[in-house]
Amino acid sequence: MSRVSEISFLNMRTKLSLNSELPVDPSRILDTLVNNLDGMVYRCRLDEDWTMLFVSQGCINLTGYAPRDLIGNASVSYESITHFEDRERVREEIGMAISLGSRFSVRYRIFTKSGVLKWVHERGVGVQDENGELVLEGFIEDETMNREIMEALKNAEHYYRNLVENASIGIFQTSVDGHYLAANPALARIYGYSSPEELIRALSDIGRQLYVDGNRRQEFRHQMQLHGEVANFESEVYRKDASKIWISENAHVVRNVNGDLVCYEGTVHDITERKLHQTLLERQANYDVLTGLLNRNLLHKMLEQSISRAGRLGYFLAIVFVDLDNFKFINDSLGHAAGDSLLVEVATRLKECLRSSDTVVRQGGDEFVLVLNDHYRIGSIVTLLQRVLNEIGKPIMLSGREFQVGASLGTAIYPQDGNDAQSLLKHADAAMYAAKNKGRNNFQFYTSELNRVADERLNLENALRIAIEQDELDVFFQPKVDSSRRILGLEALARWTSAEWGIVSPERFIPIAEETGLIVPLTEVVLQKAFAATSKWNARLNSPLKIAVNLSPRLFLDKEIVKRIERQMAAADLPSFSIELEITESVFMGDSEKTLGILHDLKSLGVTLAMDDFGTGYSSLGYLRRFPLDIIKMDRSLVTGIEHEEEVAKIARAVISLGKSLGKTVVAEGVENEAQFQFLEGQGCHEFQGYLISKPLSGKEISLMLFRGGHS
Ligand code: C2E
Ligand code: CA
Ligand code: CA
Repeated sequence: MSRVSEISFLNMRTKLSLNSELPVDPSRILDTLVNNLDGMVYRCRLDEDWTMLFVSQGCINLTGYAPRDLIGNASVSYESITHFEDRERVREEIGMAISLGSRFSVRYRIFTKSGVLKWVHERGVGVQDENGELVLEGFIEDETMNREIMEALKNAEHYYRNLVENASIGIFQTSVDGHYLAANPALARIYGYSSPEELIRALSDIGRQLYVDGNRRQEFRHQMQLHGEVANFESEVYRKDASKIWISENAHVVRNVNGDLVCYEGTVHDITERKLHQTLLERQANYDVLTGLLNRNLLHKMLEQSISRAGRLGYFLAIVFVDLDNFKFINDSLGHAAGDSLLVEVATRLKECLRSSDTVVRQGGDEFVLVLNDHYRIGSIVTLLQRVLNEIGKPIMLSGREFQVGASLGTAIYPQDGNDAQSLLKHADAAMYAAKNKGRNNFQFYTSELNRVADERLNLENALRIAIEQDELDVFFQPKVDSSRRILGLEALARWTSAEWGIVSPERFIPIAEETGLIVPLTEVVLQKAFAATSKWNARLNSPLKIAVNLSPRLFLDKEIVKRIERQMAAADLPSFSIELEITESVFMGDSEKTLGILHDLKSLGVTLAMDDFGTGYSSLGYLRRFPLDIIKMDRSLVTGIEHEEEVAKIARAVISLGKSLGKTVVAEGVENEAQFQFLEGQGCHEFQGYLISKPLSGKEISLMLFRGGHS
């Protein structure tokens, strides 16, 4: 019975008197109860001493005085042990209740006999005593303990609130669905808001609004789900003004008594400074201060990545050691400043002549390493190396004078020259020394066979350049016929007979022309010759022939091609309906918006567009729908074997029916025998080209065929 209220005490009295016929002695029960209460039951006068008329035994525990000391103010009056600061208030409150005829409840301090200060709670009521005099009856209990607990709680609350409010780290509570339930001023400050309230209002969708990387909140929730907490969870976040900072979060889940997730709670540190510092250190560790290029630290790691990529995609990877030929001379004679600016200039030139997929590393001193990725032909690597030599070899101004610097390049190729970074670097280095021994300013491959290929290729490139300049290139024509074998048109095919090399196949020189840019003047020659010949023939024919010219993907890099064709048409006086342009699917792999633009410009000239080699590349239906193509040229590989290989026949059949259903003209190339012709014709193929009808022929031969054979 620690807390007995006045009400239950009074109720009990009523009950007891009601049941007075039972064989119990109510006054005894009452007596026991009253004297065993944890507190003091009293009756007192309303005088200035609160003179006690009755107090229960609880008096001793409460005040330290025996009941007889208090009753009739024998030793002390109750007023005198009441704290002097509280006396007036107590009297007022009691007086008020009495005047209203209501109960009172008042809290105040008393001093016990031994001088201890106690908080007490007194509840009571004014009643008439047996003589009709107004007295107080009530109950006083010790509240000191409660008060102390309350006080401690209040202090603790205050203390923690202070901690949270004044903390320099951000503190938050967020709901699972991503809004703030609480935030402290530091968090608001970190995120750039003027108050926690503003932050809570503004950030209603943390996942979308706060994190720079939209997946970060999901990751946070995922970890919470998995471990119930996150530690040092680092993310980049947006502040109110949209600037970005880095934070580190420590947080845990909060659950209710049923174990349900209520919210997340945690802290936020602003770690932007540390991050900056870290990036700076990383930069310093991985980049060359002078040139801004990567330094050798990451070379190995990067090479391993390049190797695994090349292995996966089946590409060649080239590692090139570049060593400047005259660096020591310049550095010694002109001084370090000049040496430095030479290195910076070379670094710039190297970066400029490589593609974005390649990397330049400053290995140290005047040595650089190039990592050339994604080459599917050795030829294109050779072209790139030649370009690097040319660039480095261009004159350079140092200390007001012009210098020319050469370089020795050594190249190792993955996979043939090594399977790991270590051996590739070693072999590239060895090849570089070979280049130095060869008399500098040249490049060498580690594998001698590649050196032969490279030499031959460079010679061929030079020869081709001269051949174009000196008009050694010729154009042959291969007829295309309809199902009744009537000639509808001709495909122009470049031919090169070199004094030195003999007949060079287009399969060899076209790729070189493409990689070196010679394809532009080469195409110019083909367009000019093919258009002129066709114009001449058509003047004598009743039904004019169409002339088809192949356009390399490379020509689609700039819009000039449209003007070139227009100029050649005009020069030959050939109408656009007589012109077909054959393009391959790889045209679409670059900037397809630009390509689309060029194709539409060509279309508006009135020429016909054909998709060449269909069925070899990606052959996407998307291209066929999106691009303004009139003709599909089914690749030779879909024709060869068509007569006895069911698989090939099936594909050919599908391509023909696809082309027809899209309203395109379908042309079969490489038709070599009757059986193939019959099959294709039976499937509804529109046009045919191949050795069965005719090999590519010189202009003279075509003239003979057209006008002797009665084709007029
Ligand atoms: P392409 O455009 O697919 O040309 C058809 C190739 O197949 C020609 O080879 C032609 O001689 C050959 N061919 C024709 N009928 C048959 C046949 O029945 N059986 C066999 N086995 N082959 C046949 P060519 O003339 O050696 O040209 C090869 C490739 O070189 C061409 O393939 C084309 O991609 C390219 N090319 C040729 N001339 C030019 C040109 O002026 N410009 C461009 N960009 N590329 C050209
Ligand atoms: Ca072609
Ligand atoms: Ca073809």
